Amino acid sequence: MDFKKTIFLKLSLLLFLTSCSQNEASRFEFALGTFCTITLFEQGQASIYNNIFTRLNEIENLMSVNILSSDISRVNAAAGIEHIQVHEETFKVIERAVFFARLSGGAFDPSVGPLVSLWNIGKDNQQVPSRNEIEKILPLINWRNIELDKNSNSVYLKVKGMALDLGAIAKGYAADESVKIIKRSNTPRAIIDLGGNIVVLGEKKDKSLWKVGIQNPEKDRGETIGYVQIPEKTVVTSGVYERFFEENGNRYHHIFNPSNGYPAHNGLLSVTLITDVSMDADALSTAVFVLGYNEGIKLLNFFPGTEAVFIFEDKSIITTQGIDFFLTDNSFSVKQNIF
Ligand code: FAD
Ligand code: MG
Repeated sequence: MDFKKTIFLKLSLLLFLTSCSQNEASRFEFALGTFCTITLFEQGQASIYNNIFTRLNEIENLMSVNILSSDISRVNAAAGIEHIQVHEETFKVIERAVFFARLSGGAFDPSVGPLVSLWNIGKDNQQVPSRNEIEKILPLINWRNIELDKNSNSVYLKVKGMALDLGAIAKGYAADESVKIIKRSNTPRAIIDLGGNIVVLGEKKDKSLWKVGIQNPEKDRGETIGYVQIPEKTVVTSGVYERFFEENGNRYHHIFNPSNGYPAHNGLLSVTLITDVSMDADALSTAVFVLGYNEGIKLLNFFPGTEAVFIFEDKSIITTQGIDFFLTDNSFSVKQNIF
């Protein structure tokens, strides 16, 4: 083999290997306290995956309660003391969270932080607190005591001991921000999965609808009860299965009813919302899960075009009429379709 040919073959091999390493079917990383998987079709570029995960880390650094320097930690540390100027996107998410708190009558409340810390669900020191301990902190959970100043992007928690927690809304915001990056990159289709906050983007190659599995709330992550068939949409679920512990035969999960300080218990195992904006779906799914079916439906009436799948403890399922839901686990039954 002559010298030129050898160089050419070596270069070709290098190019082949480089292109392999620059294209990935999907990427999986731990971010926002959960497992995040991004799938860019067909074979996304490494640089786009990098941009998305960098963005997720940026959002986590601004909005996590577990990062001391985050905007949220700084606001919480200054509760009852002073206003704190935050990044405009943190401000935007808090503002939206307060909007949903008002609309849901406080069922969704971003000032739920003291309850999250008291129960510590999902952490080593998780515990059922005494009623006394709960009663003591309940007055701190009140979105009306979050003061926002739009001119300066500053946030003030009026009562010492108050604490924000954006765990029920910021993953949705992060999903929407990932969508922006993917759309700018001209990737034709993609799947974003941020710990169950899902977005399917673009059209499938064969033009068929996306099939998105709905988690079986009684089983481990990844086991589905059925699926919805949808075009480009976000699918967001709040349920009892995501974080919980059991004590004396009772299950204590991580979505609290701010009016009594206990995990919401109203016959629902999970609520899945299917709509366009993931941040809104995230906040709303938590709100509806806390409100329960009857009040939850009333709230959803404010959001035409938002579809829902409710799964109940008695193994029945109710879906809204605008969604194609296909049951695959016959131990459950679809009771009726509403509106
Ligand atoms: P959702 O229903 O969307 O949200 C439930 C979560 O919201 C609860 O875990 C609680 O934090 C909060 N919440 C509970 N009740 C209410 C209510 N009534 N109104 C409003 N909010 C409520 N997890 C870790 O273990 N470690 C981390 O370091 C960590 N960092 C994170 C950083 C960010 C920026 C975000 C967004 C999440 C982080 N998480 C972390 C994950 C987080 O604690 C939750 O587990 C997760 O967001 C719950 O999402 P979900 O979709 O299961 O439930
Ligand atoms: Mg939520």
